[in-house]
Amino acid sequence: MSNLKSIDKEYVANTYARFPVELLSGKGSVVKDENGKKYIDMGSGIGVTAFGIADDAWQVAVTEQLGKLQHMSNLYYTEPCARLAQLLCQRTGMKKVFFCNSGAEANEGAIKAARKYAAEKKGADWYTIVTLENSFHGRTLTTLAATGQAHYHELFQPLTPGFVHAPANDLEAVTSLALEKKAAAVMIECIQGEGGVIPMEQDFVRGLAAFCAEQDILLLVDEVQTGNGRTGALYAYMNYDIQPDIISTAKGLGGGLPLGAVIFGEKTEYVLGSGDHGSTFGGNPVCCAGALSILNRIDDEFLAEVKQKSDWAFSALRGAPGVEAVSGMGLMIGIKTVKPASEVVKACMEKGVLCLTAKDKVRLLPALNIPMPVLQGAIQIILEVCAEETV
Ligand SMILES: *Cc1c(COP(=O)(O)O)cnc(C)c1O
Repeated sequence: MSNLKSIDKEYVANTYARFPVELLSGKGSVVKDENGKKYIDMGSGIGVTAFGIADDAWQVAVTEQLGKLQHMSNLYYTEPCARLAQLLCQRTGMKKVFFCNSGAEANEGAIKAARKYAAEKKGADWYTIVTLENSFHGRTLTTLAATGQAHYHELFQPLTPGFVHAPANDLEAVTSLALEKKAAAVMIECIQGEGGVIPMEQDFVRGLAAFCAEQDILLLVDEVQTGNGRTGALYAYMNYDIQPDIISTAKGLGGGLPLGAVIFGEKTEYVLGSGDHGSTFGGNPVCCAGALSILNRIDDEFLAEVKQKSDWAFSALRGAPGVEAVSGMGLMIGIKTVKPASEVVKACMEKGVLCLTAKDKVRLLPALNIPMPVLQGAIQIILEVCAEETV
């Protein structure tokens, strides 16, 4: 083991099972390890580096801001934060943005706002949040409670009370639980990411939005993974023709720097008032300057290219030898392989392609601007690995 790997093993907390690779540098969708070996990056830091590694325009935006003001706290106005909030609202039809630093924190903000909204409007016992089985909403004690996967809960009891889970794509189950439990909100991912790249059905999402509107139960859409162009729409809810009451997002938003956002619609824009919520780092000018450069480039033309690449990838993968099923939307792709997903990922890595897993699937979240030939090269290797006989 190299010196660096042994230092990491000794001093970094054991929460991650790392691959035996040290990554040094990269450009776009190609990254290099300590031996100079190149890999096509089909994970983009779990959907974070939306425009790839060391993207030129993003780098200019970030370094220019770094030279001006790296942080000032939320006691003062700073330009990138205000402009990014404006852009997010213009592009979503939402009304106000609260900035934080991660996906879990964005969901915490959404949950706090939902509880306050319902407490003021309906009374203190309307606090429950309904989420879906097999969902993933984060690692804090509250967002773990929201996460509908028991194995994440086991060692960390008691979690924040007031969360119940219903089966995904079962409108009757979700709505009856929401009424029975006096729900403040229902929170969903339009495509369950960590749960195995499982898209929600159109009728389910639309029916749920109609139910929530009718009952004045808030609809929270967790766009941490699906947001910022990932599915071929700016936000995944836009594929379903609904308008959420609160959107949470993070991952790709900052293009590689930590940035989360809670985006409030008409019903919720004034719920959180002065002193109700806060974050020291939230809205950091460097992160926001980078995010502006990302979001400004995710326009209709760019999204159409994401969809074209997606269509090509789905048709290349579907029905291929060793591939059982392909799920997802845009450049969020789940591949159910005949071989165990972890074996496929390992073999791909040896052949120079970095992939992710989600449950029993191989998961691909490449940079949104991955050039077509690079994408084709990566998919070809993945297909070779899937088709190879196991020895
Ligand atoms: C990754 C993820 C989170 C958690 O985000 P962090 O930045 O790791 O806190 C929450 N929700 C969804 C849907 C995610 O994919």
